[in-house]
Amino acid sequence: MSSNPASSSTGRYSVFAIAREAMRLHSGWKRAWTSPEPRKKYQVVIVGAGGHGLATAYYLGKNFGITDVAIIEKGWLGGGNTGRNTTIIRSNYLQDPSAAIYDKALKLYENLSQDLNYNVMFSPRGLLMLAQTEHEVRGYKRTVYANQLQDVATEWVTPERIKQMLPIINIDGPRYPVLGGLYQERGGTARHDAVAWGYARACSAMGMHIIQNCEVTGIETGAGQVKAVNTGKGRIECDKLALVVAGHSSVMAEKAGFRLPIESMALQALVSEPVKPSCDLVIMANTVHGYLSQSDKGEMVIGGGTDGFNNYSQRGSWQHIEETIRALIETFPMLSRLKMLRQWGGIVDMTGDRSPILSTTPVGNIFVNCGWGTGGFKAIPGSGWAMAELVAKGQPGPLAAEFGLDRFKEGRFIDESVAAGVAH
Ligand SMILES: Cc1cc2nc3c(=O)[nH]c(=O)nc-3n(C[C@H](O)[C@H](O)[C@H](O)COP(=O)(O)OP(=O)(O)OC[C@H]3O[C@@H](n4cnc5c(N)ncnc54)[C@H](O)[C@@H]3O)c2cc1C
Repeated sequence: MSSNPASSSTGRYSVFAIAREAMRLHSGWKRAWTSPEPRKKYQVVIVGAGGHGLATAYYLGKNFGITDVAIIEKGWLGGGNTGRNTTIIRSNYLQDPSAAIYDKALKLYENLSQDLNYNVMFSPRGLLMLAQTEHEVRGYKRTVYANQLQDVATEWVTPERIKQMLPIINIDGPRYPVLGGLYQERGGTARHDAVAWGYARACSAMGMHIIQNCEVTGIETGAGQVKAVNTGKGRIECDKLALVVAGHSSVMAEKAGFRLPIESMALQALVSEPVKPSCDLVIMANTVHGYLSQSDKGEMVIGGGTDGFNNYSQRGSWQHIEETIRALIETFPMLSRLKMLRQWGGIVDMTGDRSPILSTTPVGNIFVNCGWGTGGFKAIPGSGWAMAELVAKGQPGPLAAEFGLDRFKEGRFIDESVAAGVAH
C-alpha cells in the first residue's frame, strides 16, 4: 500500500512543480483524474461521487489495498451536497458514537492536505454555537461536560467573551439575547470542492475509475446477493456495492428492494457580496436557524434551515432566504446592509434521530452510507474511513458499529436532535 497514493500517476504537487511549470508556461500539468469508460466488472462499485463516496474509495485503497473500484456519478463529481454546503467542521456532538466518528473526521481533516497532497484549505478558525434561549444554555453546558468525557476539547463561553471574540455581534437582542456559547477552538471550515477534488485525484492515482455523467438506473440481485448495476453506460458487475447517494438514498434502496428510514428535503445557503474581514469565527445560531462564516473572498456564507416538506429540488424555497436573514439581523445588524449575491440548495437525507446510517442491508454485499442530513461535510474523512472498513470486511468496525440500520428496529437511537439543535 502506498503511504501517499496521491502522488503516483498525476505528479506530485510541490513548490518545485510550480517552479518547473512556471518555466514551461504551465504546459506540463497532468489531468487531476482520468475519465475512463467503465469496465464490465469491478470488485467494488460505489454509487455517488460526493465526498463520502470518494473518501470511501480512497480509504479502501489506502487502508485495505482494494483498488479495483469504480465510483459512478450521475452528474459531475462533487456536484451534490458536497459542493453545496456551508463547509462547517466541528466534532462537539453529544452522544459518544457521534463524537467518535466526527472527531476522527476532524483529526483526519487536520492533516488531509498533506495526506492527499492537495490543498483542501482547512481553516480551524474556531466554531461558536450561540445559546439564545435557556434551553440552549442547559443543552450546550451538558454537551461541554459530555465532550470532556469524550476527550473532545470544547468550552462554555460567556456573552462578554463572545463580544470580545466577535465585535460585530449584538448580544443584547430583545428577542434573542446571546446568553453564552459552546466554543470549539479546533472547529472551522475547509474548501468543499477541494475536498472532493483531492480525494478524486488520489483515487484516480490508485487506478480507480471515476465515471461521471453515468446514472445508476437499476440494481440486479440474485440469491440475496448483489450481482450488477445497470447504468447509462451499460451493465456493470460487482462483488460489492456501496450506495452513497445522500438525498437519493431511499430511491436507490428501492431499486435494490429494501426501504430506508430517510426523508429527503432541500436545505439552502446563500452568500453576500464580499466585504472586508469582519468575522473570523464560524457562528451557528441554532434557535433562529442561521449560520455564518466569512469566506476567503470576503463573502458572508450563510445557511438556513430545511424546507418544511419533502422534495428533491436543488433550489430551496424563497421564504427561507427571507426568514434566515430576518432572524440573523437582530444578532448581526451589519447583515442588513449587505446585498445577497447567490443562493442554492441541496437535497439532504434526514433520519429521525439526526444520526447517519453506515450499514449492511437486507441484500448481501450491498452497504449504505447515508443519513448525514444537514451536517455530513464535516464527517467526510471519518465516514470514508469507517465505510471502507465496513465494505472491506463486510461488517462494521468500532466507528460504524452503532450506526447500523438495526437501531431503528431496536429503538437504539443516537439522538443528536436536541444537543446539536440542528446539525450543520
Ligand atoms: C445548503 C447546505 C448546507 C450544508 N452545510 C453543511 C455544513 O456547514 N457542514 C456540514 O458538515 N455539512 C453541511 N451540509 C451537509 C453536507 O453537504 C452533506 O451531508 C454531505 O455533503 C453529503 O455528502 P455525500 O457524499 O453523502 O452526498 P453528495 O455530495 O450529495 O453526493 C451524492 C452523489 O450521488 C449522486 N447520485 C445520486 N443518485 C445517483 C444515481 N442514481 N446514480 C449515480 N449517482 C447518483 C449525486 O449526483 C451526488 O453527486 C450542508 C448541505 C447543504 C445542502
